[in-house]
Amino acid sequence: MTILFVILILCIAVLGGVLVVFDSWNDRLWKENRALRKELERVKRADGEWQGTADGYADGKLVFDEWACSECGYEIETDDPDELPAFCPSCGAKMDC
Ligand SMILES: [Zn+2]
Repeated sequence: MTILFVILILCIAVLGGVLVVFDSWNDRLWKENRALRKELERVKRADGEWQGTADGYADGKLVFDEWACSECGYEIETDDPDELPAFCPSCGAKMDC
């Protein structure tokens, strides 16, 4: 009888320890989930545009060869606007085409 009681107490103690570990993991996962949701909402909201800077003319038209993200200022050099990415590589803002 006494040995069964000791085994029962040990099982309860082990189970309690396991529950504490799972509770800790659960808290950490909730915090990470909340942080990821906030980041996702920030990225979804951030619509930007490539703002071009021209330094010369070709065929009477301005040639834009430096582009900056309107959200974070990340710069890309290209004279072909079709090469500009749909999303800013730095902040992830979706760029208006
Ligand atoms: Zn950006």
